[in-house]
Amino acid sequence: MTAQLLDGRAAAEAIRTDVAAGVQAFTASHGSAPGLATLLAGDDPGSAWYVRSIGRAAKAAGMAWRDVRLDPAGGDTALRATIDGLSADTTIHGVIVLLPLPAPLSLGVVAERLDPAKDVDGITTASAGRLALGQPGLVPATPLGGIELLKRNGISLAGAEAVVLGRSNIVGKPLALLLLAEHATVTLCHTRTRDLAAVCRRADVLCAAVGRPGLVTADMVKPGAVVLDFGTTPNDAGKLRGDVDFETVHEVAGWLSPVPGGTESVTTAILLRNTLEAANRQVA
Ligand code: NAP
Repeated sequence: MTAQLLDGRAAAEAIRTDVAAGVQAFTASHGSAPGLATLLAGDDPGSAWYVRSIGRAAKAAGMAWRDVRLDPAGGDTALRATIDGLSADTTIHGVIVLLPLPAPLSLGVVAERLDPAKDVDGITTASAGRLALGQPGLVPATPLGGIELLKRNGISLAGAEAVVLGRSNIVGKPLALLLLAEHATVTLCHTRTRDLAAVCRRADVLCAAVGRPGLVTADMVKPGAVVLDFGTTPNDAGKLRGDVDFETVHEVAGWLSPVPGGTESVTTAILLRNTLEAANRQVA
């Protein structure tokens, strides 16, 4: 068997086109564009690259982008003031805080103080609680993008056995909750999981969000399974590597998302869609 590809670039393009139309309509009705702020503390080159790419995508969609930088030396006092300022600013409808925050800054400040209405990457306690309770709210963009990629390819999740590798708050855990909301039967794995390969082989839908290139090999995949790769680890040449051993798993899986060109392509498009949704709710 040779897997069909889950094309993240095509999905992202379609989402961005819809968002651009929505932004145009918002701007026509309200006289100004939806505003998205990125907050980068410190000078991590990977995060700085991501900020620039979000900014380009936001501007291309017609949004107003604000590039907010914070010196970590100001500590939680400065972080609190910045978050409170963005939460109160009526021209900003969405806020993305680049993670991880460098020391000595505390994620708790963002999780507790950012206005949940502007939390377009779903990192606040309120957003996580709403997702866990099945209430409407803003959901982390990466796992939501993964579900979107499956749906756009007509993959049905109801009743499917889904296995998620990785339990981070930003990918694995919310992904498990989203799969559950789609009526999949979900198993969440991590470093203490016993016989990971056997658990993975049960999966109709196998999702890897671990950050260990090539961890998922063909012997861990049920023939015909859907395999979603969230891993984005740069190699020495700066090329992104997924958690799935693409060459071998491609011969076994029914569907497979490539890296690059898979889930990571969809993430930014979903951030923009979340921002548009947030803006529309804030003016309603
Ligand atoms: P993270 O916070 O480091 O979490 C990694 C998770 O993987 C942890 O739960 C860890 O288990 C588990 N894990 C590590 N090694 C394992 C192993 N050998 N077997 C089983 N589980 C293992 O990472 P993250 O932020 O979720 O990111 C995961 C990957 O997704 C990274 O490659 C990251 O770059 C990528 N990512 C992609 C996107 C995108 O847009 N596609 C967005 C965000 C992140 P424990 O909890 O037991 O330690």
